[in-house]
Amino acid sequence: MTEGKCKRILIIADIEGSSGCWSYRGSSFMTEDWARACLEMTRDVQAVVRALFDSGVEHIRIKDFHRTGYNLLPDLIDSRSETVHGYRAGPVPGIGDPGDADAVMFLGMHAASGTDGFLAHTLTSRVELLEVNGEPLPEIQLFASSLAPWGLKPIFFSGCPVACEQARTSIKNISVFPIDKSVGQRQFDGAAWRSGLGQAAVKALANNQTAPFEREGPMRVVVRMRTGSIAAGKMAKRWGLDCRGDQIMIDAADIRDVYVHLIRICYLTPALEKTLPLGLWIYNLWGRIGLAWARRRVRGREN
Ligand SMILES: [Zn+2]
Repeated sequence: MTEGKCKRILIIADIEGSSGCWSYRGSSFMTEDWARACLEMTRDVQAVVRALFDSGVEHIRIKDFHRTGYNLLPDLIDSRSETVHGYRAGPVPGIGDPGDADAVMFLGMHAASGTDGFLAHTLTSRVELLEVNGEPLPEIQLFASSLAPWGLKPIFFSGCPVACEQARTSIKNISVFPIDKSVGQRQFDGAAWRSGLGQAAVKALANNQTAPFEREGPMRVVVRMRTGSIAAGKMAKRWGLDCRGDQIMIDAADIRDVYVHLIRICYLTPALEKTLPLGLWIYNLWGRIGLAWARRRVRGREN
């Protein structure tokens, strides 16, 4: 392999920007559309994994990062790779141990809450708008910054065209490969798109123009919840934050601090945070049950 190319890759895989998800139902746990989307998302990931191994990559860890973290069907992915399901509290929030990867690739991603990409949201669809210092915050900034202390460079991103544009604006020189769903599911040539995705990911291995992502504070965060002002007020009070109407205000020291605050208000209560290992165990069990159900729904369609 050519000197300077990345050899150890972490893949963060989401479903909304995969070739399997064409509506909100396709992203919704335990629906027929979601079961089919799991299969297609798995095929997208496998296309990238196979292309990367063929080009000399030595190790690939895939973190399933949609909803429960149980969407990918590992028996359909090259067995030299490692698929990590579910969520871990740390050291990297949600991801757990990032391993010793050189670089991170983001597949199947979506645009930020408050923007007009396909199924745009940040962390949860309950967040209607999320701004940091007046700008919408895409998830890539949260995930890439959480991996920066481990030296991982964000080199590749795929999602809808709006999401790709937000990734390029967020991270200088990141390589992107969009998925354009305007043609509709029936007309979409999944095999051709996937082959392009794999080739683009291989090309990105030589991308030595990006650096681990850092964004300095201080940061003023505004989160507007879809759940209305009463629910937003309760969430804010729980965590000692300011709230005006349906907007929660956060003053954060830096981007990783923003992430910690958002995880709290989107997913936790103070009581749940204290018993997080048990909560995650139950949540991961729920994910395993869902994936076993999805696997039964798509049996016989794998080839
Ligand atoms: Zn998702």
